[in-house]
Amino acid sequence: MSISPSKYIFVTGGVTSSLGKGIISASLGKLLMGRGYSVTIQKLDPYINVDPGTMNPYEHGECYVTEDGAETDLDLGHYERFLNTPTSQANNVTTGKIYQTVINKEREGAYLGKTVQIIPHITDEIKRCIKLLGDTEKYDFVITEIGGTVGDIESLPYIEAVRQLKWELGEDTLFIHLTLVPFLKASGELKTKPTQHSVKTLLESGIQPDILVCRTEHELGIDIKRKIALFCNVEKEAVIESIDVESIYEVPIKMLDEGLDKVVLKKLNLNDSTKLNLDNWNSFLKKLKNPKKTVSIGLIGKYIELKDSYKSITEAFIHAGTTHNCAVKVKWIHAESINTKNVKKELKGLDGVLVAPGFGDRGIEGKILAIKYVRENNIPFLGICLGMQCAVIEFARNVIGMKKAHTTEIDSKTKYPVIDIMQEQKEIINKGGTMRLGAFTCNIKNGSKTKKAYKRNSAKERHRHRYEFNNTYLEDFEKAGMLATGINPDSNLVEIMEIPKHPWFVGVQFHPEYKSTVSSPHPLFIDFIKACLNQKN
Ligand code: GLN
Repeated sequence: MSISPSKYIFVTGGVTSSLGKGIISASLGKLLMGRGYSVTIQKLDPYINVDPGTMNPYEHGECYVTEDGAETDLDLGHYERFLNTPTSQANNVTTGKIYQTVINKEREGAYLGKTVQIIPHITDEIKRCIKLLGDTEKYDFVITEIGGTVGDIESLPYIEAVRQLKWELGEDTLFIHLTLVPFLKASGELKTKPTQHSVKTLLESGIQPDILVCRTEHELGIDIKRKIALFCNVEKEAVIESIDVESIYEVPIKMLDEGLDKVVLKKLNLNDSTKLNLDNWNSFLKKLKNPKKTVSIGLIGKYIELKDSYKSITEAFIHAGTTHNCAVKVKWIHAESINTKNVKKELKGLDGVLVAPGFGDRGIEGKILAIKYVRENNIPFLGICLGMQCAVIEFARNVIGMKKAHTTEIDSKTKYPVIDIMQEQKEIINKGGTMRLGAFTCNIKNGSKTKKAYKRNSAKERHRHRYEFNNTYLEDFEKAGMLATGINPDSNLVEIMEIPKHPWFVGVQFHPEYKSTVSSPHPLFIDFIKACLNQKN
Protein backbone atom coordinates (compact mmCIF):
# COMPACT_ATOMS: atom_id res chain seq x y z
CA MET A 1 0.00 0.00 0.00
CA SER A 2 1.30 3.42 -0.75
CA ILE A 3 -0.23 6.85 -0.29
CA SER A 4 1.05 9.82 -2.21
CA PRO A 5 1.40 12.54 -1.08
CA SER A 6 2.00 11.65 2.57
CA LYS A 7 -0.66 12.36 5.14
CA TYR A 8 0.33 14.58 8.05
CA ILE A 9 -1.11 13.97 11.50
CA PHE A 10 -0.42 16.57 14.20
CA VAL A 11 -0.71 15.64 17.85
CA THR A 12 -1.08 18.47 20.37
CA GLY A 13 -1.67 18.36 24.10
CA GLY A 14 -3.81 20.43 26.43
CA VAL A 15 -4.63 20.90 30.14
CA THR A 16 -1.38 19.44 31.45
CA SER A 17 1.87 17.93 30.32
CA SER A 18 2.71 14.22 30.68
CA LEU A 19 -0.59 13.01 29.24
CA GLY A 20 1.22 10.51 27.07
CA LYS A 21 1.22 12.18 23.64
CA GLY A 22 4.25 10.07 22.74
CA ILE A 23 2.52 6.81 23.59
CA ILE A 24 -0.67 7.82 21.78
CA SER A 25 1.34 8.82 18.69
CA ALA A 26 3.27 5.54 18.82
CA SER A 27 0.06 3.55 19.33
CA LEU A 28 -1.64 5.20 16.37
CA GLY A 29 1.50 4.56 14.32
CA LYS A 30 1.38 0.91 15.35
CA LEU A 31 -2.25 0.55 14.28
CA LEU A 32 -1.59 2.17 10.90
CA MET A 33 1.43 -0.05 10.36
CA GLY A 34 -0.69 -3.04 11.33
CA ARG A 35 -2.83 -2.11 8.34
CA GLY A 36 0.16 -2.15 6.05
CA TYR A 37 1.03 1.54 5.92
CA SER A 38 4.49 3.01 6.44
CA VAL A 39 4.71 5.48 9.30
CA THR A 40 7.25 7.77 10.88
CA ILE A 41 6.83 9.84 14.01
CA GLN A 42 8.49 13.13 14.73
CA LYS A 43 8.73 15.18 17.91
CA LEU A 44 8.88 18.98 18.01
CA ASP A 45 10.36 20.19 21.30
CA PRO A 46 9.81 23.77 22.41
CA TYR A 47 13.03 24.32 24.39
CA ILE A 48 15.99 26.40 23.26
CA ASN A 49 18.65 23.73 23.77
CA VAL A 50 19.70 22.53 20.32
CA ASP A 51 19.23 18.98 21.61
CA PRO A 52 18.63 17.40 25.02
CA GLY A 53 22.20 16.06 25.09
CA THR A 54 23.35 18.95 27.27
CA MET A 55 20.54 18.49 29.78
CA ASN A 56 20.72 16.65 33.06
CA PRO A 57 18.44 13.58 33.19
CA TYR A 58 16.63 15.23 36.13
CA GLU A 59 15.51 17.95 33.70
CA HIS A 60 14.50 15.75 30.87
CA GLY A 61 14.73 12.03 31.59
CA GLU A 62 16.85 9.83 29.36
CA CYS A 63 18.59 11.21 26.32
CA TYR A 64 17.81 8.78 23.51
CA VAL A 65 20.40 8.25 20.80
CA THR A 66 19.45 7.39 17.22
CA GLU A 67 21.32 5.24 14.73
CA ASP A 68 22.70 8.33 12.97
CA GLY A 69 23.92 9.80 16.24
CA ALA A 70 21.26 12.35 17.19
CA GLU A 71 20.78 13.00 20.90
CA THR A 72 17.02 13.16 21.22
CA ASP A 73 13.92 13.20 23.37
CA LEU A 74 12.99 9.94 25.07
CA ASP A 75 9.73 9.79 23.14
CA LEU A 76 11.76 8.72 20.11
CA GLY A 77 12.58 5.61 22.11
CA HIS A 78 8.86 4.87 22.36
CA TYR A 79 8.45 5.40 18.61
CA GLU A 80 11.19 2.88 17.86
CA ARG A 81 10.04 0.37 20.47
CA PHE A 82 6.49 0.42 19.11
CA LEU A 83 7.15 0.68 15.37
CA ASN A 84 10.43 -1.25 15.21
CA THR A 85 11.79 1.22 12.66
CA PRO A 86 14.77 3.45 13.34
CA THR A 87 14.32 7.20 13.75
CA SER A 88 16.94 9.75 12.76
CA GLN A 89 18.12 13.35 13.20
CA ALA A 90 15.04 14.50 11.30
CA ASN A 91 12.66 12.95 13.82
CA ASN A 92 13.48 15.38 16.61
CA VAL A 93 13.28 19.13 16.06
CA THR A 94 13.87 21.67 18.81
CA THR A 95 13.37 25.41 18.97
CA GLY A 96 17.13 25.66 19.45
CA LYS A 97 17.74 23.80 16.18
CA ILE A 98 15.20 25.93 14.29
CA TYR A 99 16.67 29.22 15.51
CA GLN A 100 20.23 28.02 14.91
CA THR A 101 19.42 27.26 11.27
CA VAL A 102 17.60 30.55 10.72
CA ILE A 103 20.31 32.63 12.40
CA ASN A 104 23.06 30.83 10.46
CA LYS A 105 21.19 31.53 7.24
CA GLU A 106 20.78 35.17 8.21
CA ARG A 107 24.56 35.45 8.73
CA GLU A 108 25.16 33.84 5.35
CA GLY A 109 23.00 36.53 3.82
CA ALA A 110 20.13 34.29 2.81
CA TYR A 111 17.57 36.92 3.83
CA LEU A 112 19.50 40.00 2.68
CA GLY A 113 17.38 43.12 2.85
CA LYS A 114 14.70 41.54 5.01
CA THR A 115 13.76 41.74 8.67
CA VAL A 116 14.02 38.18 10.00
CA GLN A 117 10.93 37.35 12.04
CA ILE A 118 9.11 34.51 13.77
CA ILE A 119 6.53 34.64 10.99
CA PRO A 120 7.45 33.78 8.27
CA HIS A 121 11.10 32.78 8.84
CA ILE A 122 10.88 30.64 11.96
CA THR A 123 7.54 29.13 10.95
CA ASP A 124 8.85 28.40 7.44
CA GLU A 125 11.81 26.55 8.91
CA ILE A 126 9.46 24.54 11.17
CA LYS A 127 7.31 23.65 8.15
CA ARG A 128 10.40 22.63 6.20
CA CYS A 129 11.45 20.27 9.01
CA ILE A 130 8.00 18.69 9.12
CA LYS A 131 7.68 18.26 5.36
CA LEU A 132 11.20 16.88 5.06
CA LEU A 133 9.95 13.51 6.29
CA GLY A 134 6.98 13.40 3.91
CA ASP A 135 9.07 14.58 0.98
CA THR A 136 11.26 11.47 1.16
CA GLU A 137 8.23 9.53 -0.21
CA LYS A 138 9.16 6.78 2.19
CA TYR A 139 6.17 7.27 4.46
CA ASP A 140 2.42 7.14 4.01
CA PHE A 141 1.96 8.90 7.33
CA VAL A 142 4.07 11.47 9.12
CA ILE A 143 2.87 11.85 12.69
CA THR A 144 4.19 15.01 14.31
CA GLU A 145 3.95 15.30 18.07
CA ILE A 146 4.15 18.88 19.34
CA GLY A 147 5.77 18.99 22.76
CA GLY A 148 4.42 21.12 25.59
CA THR A 149 0.84 22.20 26.21
CA VAL A 150 -1.25 24.51 24.01
CA GLY A 151 -1.14 28.05 25.33
CA ASP A 152 2.54 27.80 26.29
CA ILE A 153 4.49 30.79 24.95
CA GLU A 154 7.22 28.43 23.79
CA SER A 155 5.07 26.33 21.50
CA LEU A 156 3.24 29.19 19.75
CA PRO A 157 5.46 29.19 16.62
CA TYR A 158 4.91 25.43 16.23
CA ILE A 159 1.15 25.80 16.53
CA GLU A 160 1.20 28.64 13.99
CA ALA A 161 3.36 26.59 11.61
CA VAL A 162 1.00 23.60 11.66
CA ARG A 163 -2.00 25.90 11.26
CA GLN A 164 -0.37 27.18 8.06
CA LEU A 165 0.38 23.64 6.92
CA LYS A 166 -3.28 22.79 7.27
CA TRP A 167 -3.99 25.66 4.83
CA GLU A 168 -1.34 24.51 2.40
CA LEU A 169 -1.94 20.76 2.48
CA GLY A 170 -5.67 20.77 3.15
CA GLU A 171 -7.19 17.33 3.26
CA ASP A 172 -3.87 15.65 3.74
CA THR A 173 -3.67 16.89 7.32
CA LEU A 174 -5.36 15.90 10.55
CA PHE A 175 -5.28 17.28 14.09
CA ILE A 176 -5.47 15.15 17.19
CA HIS A 177 -5.65 16.93 20.53
CA LEU A 178 -4.97 15.15 23.81
CA THR A 179 -6.64 16.40 26.96
CA LEU A 180 -7.34 15.37 30.51
CA VAL A 181 -10.80 14.65 31.88
CA PRO A 182 -10.23 14.80 35.63
CA PHE A 183 -12.35 12.96 38.19
CA LEU A 184 -13.49 14.92 41.22
CA LYS A 185 -13.63 12.45 44.03
CA ALA A 186 -15.72 14.61 46.35
CA SER A 187 -18.57 14.92 43.86
CA GLY A 188 -17.87 11.63 42.10
CA GLU A 189 -17.84 13.35 38.71
CA LEU A 190 -15.74 13.51 35.57
CA LYS A 191 -15.17 17.09 34.50
CA THR A 192 -15.10 18.21 30.88
CA LYS A 193 -14.42 21.92 31.41
CA PRO A 194 -10.59 21.67 31.18
CA THR A 195 -11.03 19.95 27.79
CA GLN A 196 -13.42 22.65 26.60
CA HIS A 197 -10.97 25.35 27.66
CA SER A 198 -8.00 23.74 26.03
CA VAL A 199 -9.86 23.28 22.75
CA LYS A 200 -10.82 26.97 22.97
CA THR A 201 -7.16 27.87 23.36
CA LEU A 202 -6.38 25.84 20.28
CA LEU A 203 -9.24 27.53 18.39
CA GLU A 204 -7.81 30.93 19.31
CA SER A 205 -4.71 29.86 17.38
CA GLY A 206 -6.87 28.94 14.42
CA ILE A 207 -6.87 25.18 14.84
CA GLN A 208 -9.98 23.05 15.10
CA PRO A 209 -9.01 19.58 16.30
CA ASP A 210 -10.49 16.69 14.30
CA ILE A 211 -10.10 14.13 17.06
CA LEU A 212 -9.92 14.45 20.83
CA VAL A 213 -8.13 11.81 22.86
CA CYS A 214 -9.25 12.17 26.45
CA ARG A 215 -7.03 10.82 29.17
CA THR A 216 -9.10 9.63 32.13
CA GLU A 217 -9.00 7.42 35.20
CA HIS A 218 -12.63 6.36 34.74
CA GLU A 219 -14.73 5.34 31.75
CA LEU A 220 -16.13 8.41 30.02
CA GLY A 221 -19.49 6.97 29.08
CA ILE A 222 -21.63 8.05 26.17
CA ASP A 223 -23.05 11.18 27.84
CA ILE A 224 -19.66 12.70 28.59
CA LYS A 225 -18.48 11.88 25.07
CA ARG A 226 -21.54 13.56 23.64
CA LYS A 227 -21.02 16.61 25.79
CA ILE A 228 -17.37 16.93 24.80
CA ALA A 229 -18.30 16.46 21.14
CA LEU A 230 -20.95 19.18 21.31
CA PHE A 231 -18.82 21.75 23.10
CA CYS A 232 -15.67 21.11 21.09
CA ASN A 233 -17.13 20.80 17.56
CA VAL A 234 -16.03 17.22 16.98
CA GLU A 235 -18.05 14.14 16.10
CA LYS A 236 -18.98 11.81 18.93
CA GLU A 237 -16.97 8.98 17.31
CA ALA A 238 -13.97 11.28 17.30
CA VAL A 239 -13.99 11.59 21.11
CA ILE A 240 -11.60 8.83 22.07
CA GLU A 241 -11.28 7.61 25.63
CA SER A 242 -7.75 6.96 26.81
CA ILE A 243 -8.16 5.24 30.14
CA ASP A 244 -5.20 4.50 32.43
CA VAL A 245 -3.75 1.05 31.81
CA GLU A 246 -1.13 -1.02 33.57
CA SER A 247 1.32 -1.19 30.70
CA ILE A 248 2.01 1.29 27.89
CA TYR A 249 1.97 -1.68 25.51
CA GLU A 250 -1.78 -2.06 26.07
CA VAL A 251 -2.47 1.41 24.67
CA PRO A 252 -2.55 0.41 20.96
CA ILE A 253 -5.22 -2.17 21.78
CA LYS A 254 -7.23 0.37 23.80
CA MET A 255 -7.01 2.80 20.88
CA LEU A 256 -8.13 0.05 18.54
CA ASP A 257 -11.14 -0.69 20.77
CA GLU A 258 -11.99 3.00 20.72
CA GLY A 259 -11.70 3.07 16.92
CA LEU A 260 -8.94 5.68 16.73
CA ASP A 261 -7.38 4.21 13.58
CA LYS A 262 -10.75 4.02 11.81
CA VAL A 263 -11.65 7.63 12.61
CA VAL A 264 -8.22 8.74 11.41
CA LEU A 265 -8.58 6.86 8.11
CA LYS A 266 -12.14 8.07 7.61
CA LYS A 267 -11.21 11.68 8.21
CA LEU A 268 -8.33 11.41 5.78
CA ASN A 269 -10.65 9.88 3.16
CA LEU A 270 -8.85 6.54 3.21
CA ASN A 271 -10.29 3.07 3.11
CA ASP A 272 -10.89 1.95 6.70
CA SER A 273 -11.74 -1.65 5.88
CA THR A 274 -8.15 -2.76 5.26
CA LYS A 275 -7.18 -5.80 7.29
CA LEU A 276 -5.41 -5.14 10.54
CA ASN A 277 -2.71 -7.55 11.65
CA LEU A 278 -1.52 -7.19 15.24
CA ASP A 279 -0.77 -10.88 15.86
CA ASN A 280 2.79 -10.36 17.09
CA TRP A 281 1.80 -7.49 19.30
CA ASN A 282 -1.03 -9.47 20.84
CA SER A 283 1.11 -12.50 21.55
CA PHE A 284 3.68 -10.23 23.21
CA LEU A 285 0.93 -8.71 25.34
CA LYS A 286 -0.41 -12.11 26.33
CA LYS A 287 3.01 -13.19 27.52
CA LEU A 288 3.62 -9.87 29.24
CA LYS A 289 0.41 -10.15 31.23
CA ASN A 290 0.84 -13.78 32.20
CA PRO A 291 4.43 -14.22 33.37
CA LYS A 292 5.35 -17.69 34.58
CA LYS A 293 8.37 -16.57 36.61
CA THR A 294 10.11 -13.53 38.05
CA VAL A 295 13.65 -12.31 38.42
CA SER A 296 14.88 -9.46 40.58
CA ILE A 297 17.48 -7.20 39.07
CA GLY A 298 19.23 -4.37 40.85
CA LEU A 299 19.56 -1.23 38.73
CA ILE A 300 22.36 0.90 40.11
CA GLY A 301 22.42 4.50 38.99
CA LYS A 302 22.56 8.01 40.32
CA TYR A 303 19.41 9.49 38.82
CA ILE A 304 17.02 6.89 40.20
CA GLU A 305 14.67 9.48 41.74
CA LEU A 306 13.50 10.00 38.16
CA LYS A 307 12.81 6.61 36.64
CA ASP A 308 12.56 8.13 33.15
CA SER A 309 16.33 8.60 33.29
CA TYR A 310 16.67 4.88 32.55
CA LYS A 311 13.60 4.44 30.33
CA SER A 312 15.21 2.39 27.55
CA ILE A 313 16.86 0.05 30.07
CA THR A 314 13.66 -0.75 31.94
CA GLU A 315 11.77 -1.21 28.66
CA ALA A 316 14.52 -3.52 27.39
CA PHE A 317 14.04 -5.58 30.59
CA ILE A 318 10.34 -5.88 29.77
CA HIS A 319 10.96 -6.96 26.15
CA ALA A 320 13.64 -9.50 27.05
CA GLY A 321 11.83 -10.75 30.15
CA THR A 322 8.68 -11.39 28.13
CA THR A 323 10.74 -13.54 25.73
CA HIS A 324 11.39 -15.82 28.72
CA ASN A 325 7.81 -15.54 30.05
CA CYS A 326 9.41 -13.76 32.92
CA ALA A 327 8.53 -10.59 34.82
CA VAL A 328 11.51 -8.45 35.74
CA LYS A 329 11.29 -6.82 39.16
CA VAL A 330 13.64 -3.85 39.30
CA LYS A 331 15.21 -2.86 42.59
CA TRP A 332 16.34 0.74 42.20
CA ILE A 333 19.60 1.28 44.03
CA HIS A 334 21.15 4.67 44.46
CA ALA A 335 24.86 4.41 43.68
CA GLU A 336 25.65 7.00 46.35
CA SER A 337 23.99 4.93 49.05
CA ILE A 338 26.29 1.92 48.62
CA ASN A 339 29.24 1.56 51.01
CA THR A 340 31.45 -1.28 52.29
CA LYS A 341 29.13 -1.85 55.24
CA ASN A 342 25.83 -2.20 53.37
CA VAL A 343 26.80 -3.54 49.93
CA LYS A 344 26.02 -7.14 50.86
CA LYS A 345 22.66 -6.22 52.36
CA GLU A 346 21.76 -3.99 49.40
CA LEU A 347 22.46 -6.68 46.81
CA LYS A 348 21.22 -9.66 48.78
CA GLY A 349 18.64 -11.78 47.03
CA LEU A 350 19.16 -10.16 43.63
CA ASP A 351 19.38 -12.45 40.60
CA GLY A 352 21.38 -9.94 38.61
CA VAL A 353 22.76 -6.42 38.68
CA LEU A 354 22.93 -3.75 36.00
CA VAL A 355 25.19 -0.74 36.46
CA ALA A 356 23.85 2.16 34.46
CA PRO A 357 25.47 4.73 32.18
CA GLY A 358 26.34 8.13 33.57
CA PHE A 359 28.69 11.08 33.77
CA GLY A 360 30.84 12.53 36.52
CA ASP A 361 32.04 11.24 39.87
CA ARG A 362 28.88 11.18 41.96
CA GLY A 363 28.18 7.63 43.11
CA ILE A 364 31.10 6.11 41.25
CA GLU A 365 32.72 4.43 44.26
CA GLY A 366 29.35 2.85 45.14
CA LYS A 367 29.13 1.41 41.64
CA ILE A 368 32.65 0.01 41.92
CA LEU A 369 31.89 -1.59 45.31
CA ALA A 370 28.74 -3.21 43.91
CA ILE A 371 30.68 -4.58 40.94
CA LYS A 372 33.33 -6.06 43.23
CA TYR A 373 30.55 -7.81 45.14
CA VAL A 374 28.82 -9.28 42.08
CA ARG A 375 32.14 -10.32 40.54
CA GLU A 376 33.23 -12.14 43.71
CA ASN A 377 29.82 -13.67 44.34
CA ASN A 378 29.09 -14.88 40.81
CA ILE A 379 25.97 -12.71 40.40
CA PRO A 380 25.14 -11.96 36.72
CA PHE A 381 26.28 -8.48 35.78
CA LEU A 382 25.66 -6.16 32.86
CA GLY A 383 27.55 -2.88 32.80
CA ILE A 384 26.53 -0.26 30.26
CA CYS A 385 28.92 2.51 29.18
CA LEU A 386 30.00 4.07 32.51
CA GLY A 387 28.90 0.73 34.03
CA MET A 388 31.42 -1.07 31.83
CA GLN A 389 34.09 1.51 32.64
CA CYS A 390 33.49 0.98 36.38
CA ALA A 391 33.88 -2.78 35.89
CA VAL A 392 37.25 -2.17 34.24
CA ILE A 393 38.36 0.12 37.09
CA GLU A 394 37.23 -2.40 39.70
CA PHE A 395 39.09 -5.24 38.00
CA ALA A 396 42.25 -3.16 37.66
CA ARG A 397 42.21 -2.17 41.32
CA ASN A 398 41.16 -5.41 42.96
CA VAL A 399 42.39 -8.16 40.63
CA ILE A 400 45.38 -6.77 38.76
CA GLY A 401 46.53 -4.77 41.78
CA MET A 402 46.66 -1.35 40.12
CA LYS A 403 45.86 0.63 43.25
CA LYS A 404 43.79 3.76 42.59
CA ALA A 405 43.29 2.90 38.91
CA HIS A 406 40.66 5.22 37.53
CA THR A 407 39.09 6.91 34.54
CA THR A 408 40.64 10.23 33.61
CA GLU A 409 37.10 11.63 33.51
CA ILE A 410 37.30 11.66 37.31
CA ASP A 411 40.98 11.51 38.22
CA SER A 412 43.02 13.12 35.47
CA LYS A 413 46.28 12.37 37.31
CA THR A 414 45.69 8.69 38.10
CA LYS A 415 48.75 6.45 37.88
CA TYR A 416 46.68 3.86 36.02
CA PRO A 417 44.35 5.56 33.50
CA VAL A 418 42.61 2.32 32.51
CA ILE A 419 39.79 4.39 31.04
CA ASP A 420 41.00 7.43 29.16
CA ILE A 421 39.68 10.16 26.90
CA MET A 422 39.53 9.13 23.24
CA GLN A 423 42.22 10.59 21.01
CA GLU A 424 39.62 12.19 18.76
CA GLN A 425 38.02 13.88 21.81
CA LYS A 426 41.16 15.54 23.14
CA GLU A 427 40.90 18.78 21.22
CA ILE A 428 37.14 19.20 21.45
CA ILE A 429 36.02 22.03 23.74
CA ASN A 430 32.33 22.37 22.85
CA LYS A 431 30.01 20.16 24.86
CA GLY A 432 26.95 19.91 22.60
CA GLY A 433 26.74 16.98 20.19
CA THR A 434 30.47 16.28 20.34
CA MET A 435 30.62 12.87 22.00
CA ARG A 436 31.20 9.65 20.09
CA LEU A 437 27.59 9.29 18.98
CA GLY A 438 25.50 6.85 17.01
CA ALA A 439 26.00 3.37 15.62
CA PHE A 440 29.41 1.76 15.13
CA THR A 441 30.33 -1.78 14.20
CA CYS A 442 31.67 -4.15 16.79
CA ASN A 443 33.31 -7.46 15.91
CA ILE A 444 32.52 -10.16 18.42
CA LYS A 445 35.04 -12.83 19.37
CA ASN A 446 34.29 -16.50 19.03
CA GLY A 447 33.73 -18.43 22.23
CA SER A 448 32.55 -15.37 24.17
CA LYS A 449 29.27 -15.03 26.06
CA THR A 450 28.28 -12.14 23.85
CA LYS A 451 28.87 -14.23 20.73
CA LYS A 452 26.54 -16.85 22.18
CA ALA A 453 23.98 -14.16 22.87
CA TYR A 454 24.17 -12.38 19.50
CA LYS A 455 24.69 -15.53 17.41
CA ARG A 456 26.47 -13.21 14.97
CA ASN A 457 30.06 -12.20 14.28
CA SER A 458 29.38 -8.51 14.49
CA ALA A 459 26.80 -6.01 15.65
CA LYS A 460 26.08 -2.34 15.10
CA GLU A 461 25.39 -0.63 18.40
CA ARG A 462 24.82 2.96 19.47
CA HIS A 463 27.25 5.03 21.46
CA ARG A 464 27.31 8.15 23.63
CA HIS A 465 30.59 8.68 25.43
CA ARG A 466 33.96 10.46 25.46
CA TYR A 467 36.10 7.94 27.31
CA GLU A 468 37.19 4.44 26.35
CA PHE A 469 39.14 1.43 27.51
CA ASN A 470 42.87 2.24 27.40
CA ASN A 471 44.45 -0.38 25.13
CA THR A 472 47.87 0.15 26.80
CA TYR A 473 46.57 -2.11 29.59
CA LEU A 474 44.81 -4.73 27.48
CA GLU A 475 47.45 -7.39 28.00
CA ASP A 476 47.36 -6.96 31.79
CA PHE A 477 43.61 -7.42 31.77
CA GLU A 478 43.58 -10.45 29.50
CA LYS A 479 46.32 -12.14 31.53
CA ALA A 480 44.30 -11.59 34.71
CA GLY A 481 41.08 -12.98 33.23
CA MET A 482 39.07 -10.08 31.81
CA LEU A 483 38.89 -10.27 28.04
CA ALA A 484 38.08 -7.78 25.34
CA THR A 485 35.51 -9.78 23.34
CA GLY A 486 34.16 -6.97 21.19
CA ILE A 487 36.36 -4.66 19.13
CA ASN A 488 35.58 -1.89 16.69
CA PRO A 489 37.27 -3.04 13.46
CA ASP A 490 38.02 0.50 12.26
CA SER A 491 39.32 2.20 15.39
CA ASN A 492 40.37 -0.84 17.43
CA LEU A 493 38.40 0.56 20.39
CA VAL A 494 37.31 -2.01 22.95
CA GLU A 495 33.53 -2.34 22.92
CA ILE A 496 32.91 -5.37 25.15
CA MET A 497 34.70 -6.74 28.23
CA GLU A 498 33.91 -10.11 29.75
CA ILE A 499 35.10 -12.36 32.55
CA PRO A 500 34.82 -15.89 31.11
CA LYS A 501 35.25 -17.53 34.51
CA HIS A 502 32.22 -15.72 35.91
CA PRO A 503 28.71 -17.14 35.15
CA TRP A 504 27.76 -13.93 33.28
CA PHE A 505 29.85 -10.79 33.58
CA VAL A 506 29.61 -8.47 30.58
CA GLY A 507 30.45 -4.79 30.21
CA VAL A 508 29.60 -2.93 27.02
CA GLN A 509 30.86 0.49 25.98
CA PHE A 510 27.75 0.96 23.80
CA HIS A 511 24.07 1.21 24.73
CA PRO A 512 22.24 -1.98 23.75
CA GLU A 513 19.06 -0.68 25.42
CA TYR A 514 18.41 1.83 22.61
CA LYS A 515 17.89 -0.96 20.10
CA SER A 516 15.51 -3.17 22.05
CA THR A 517 11.97 -3.16 20.66
CA VAL A 518 8.81 -5.17 21.26
CA SER A 519 9.26 -7.22 18.12
CA SER A 520 13.01 -7.40 18.45
CA PRO A 521 14.17 -7.64 22.08
CA HIS A 522 17.91 -7.14 22.42
CA PRO A 523 19.99 -10.36 22.42
CA LEU A 524 22.25 -9.16 25.26
CA PHE A 525 19.28 -8.40 27.47
CA ILE A 526 17.71 -11.75 26.56
CA ASP A 527 20.88 -13.57 27.55
CA PHE A 528 21.40 -11.49 30.69
CA ILE A 529 17.91 -12.34 31.92
CA LYS A 530 18.49 -15.99 31.07
CA ALA A 531 21.61 -15.85 33.26
CA CYS A 532 19.56 -14.22 36.03
CA LEU A 533 17.00 -17.02 35.76
CA ASN A 534 19.79 -19.60 36.01
CA GLN A 535 21.16 -17.77 39.02
CA LYS A 536 17.78 -17.89 40.68
CA ASN A 537 17.49 -21.62 40.16
N1 GLN B 1 30.99 9.39 31.17
C1 GLN B 1 31.44 8.29 30.39
C2 GLN B 1 32.05 8.75 29.07
O1 GLN B 1 31.79 9.86 28.64
C3 GLN B 1 30.31 7.29 30.14
C4 GLN B 1 29.18 7.84 29.35
C5 GLN B 1 27.93 7.00 29.43
O2 GLN B 1 27.76 6.21 30.34
N2 GLN B 1 27.01 7.20 28.49
O3 GLN B 1 32.78 8.02 28.48
